[in-house]
Amino acid sequence: MRKQIAAANWKMNLTAQQAENLMNELVALPHQLYEHQQAIFAVPFPYLQMIEQKLHGKQNVFVAAQNCYYKKNGAFTGEVSVEMLQSININHVIIGHSERREYFNETNEVLALKVNHCLENNVTPIFCCGEPLAVRESNTQESFVAKQLDESLFHLSAEQIIKVVIAYEPIWAIGTGKTATSEQAQDIHLFIRNHIAAKYSERIANEISILYGGSVKAANAKEIFSQPDVDGGLVGGAALNAQEFNTIINSLK
Ligand code: PEP
Repeated sequence: MRKQIAAANWKMNLTAQQAENLMNELVALPHQLYEHQQAIFAVPFPYLQMIEQKLHGKQNVFVAAQNCYYKKNGAFTGEVSVEMLQSININHVIIGHSERREYFNETNEVLALKVNHCLENNVTPIFCCGEPLAVRESNTQESFVAKQLDESLFHLSAEQIIKVVIAYEPIWAIGTGKTATSEQAQDIHLFIRNHIAAKYSERIANEISILYGGSVKAANAKEIFSQPDVDGGLVGGAALNAQEFNTIINSLK
């Protein structure tokens, strides 16, 4: 059974004290994660260890980095390797968030290298895809997203791709307050699953968690997550509020 996942993306927000306060508040709130459910916290690099230590040993709860480099080590000032993350018990990484694609010029080809490097080291990539507004307005989002998957993931073997978590995040819905309707989300999630099935198999496609991201909040999470091909969400703004994110965790199916 594929996992249902509530993933928080704190982006470049919060001081260390604020991060600690947010996590203290959140762990004190009532939530229950069943066997098939997970909560993942993608926090800024400087707080990874602190948050990991705070959550250490909690069932089905993981801490993720928001990015990594695709080299093992060396003269790459400012970059962080997968090996470094693993050495502090971090086994999940967001790869290819639209902000990294847009502001740091990360291409599908570079993201393929990052995905490879994660999988070679048994780290789970949370691979982001999704179209800008102009593409949605021209109704070509399916071919746009298919190209992202083809160029960054479809070189993987079946055994490898099954370990990837996909986050579909329409760029026009990220941080804008505009959410895709649950029907729009379901349509493209089903497209993504069918695209994976056509390349690999239905069995493989059915094992892969596909998260929705884009202005998910407490008020709309349940409706979006209830769609058959939506396996939870990647959440930015609403993840900075403990009550909101706790409700989102409790909205997983
Ligand atoms: C995100 O950061 O991936 C995101 C979806 O942000 P928001 O929830 O704020 O739209």
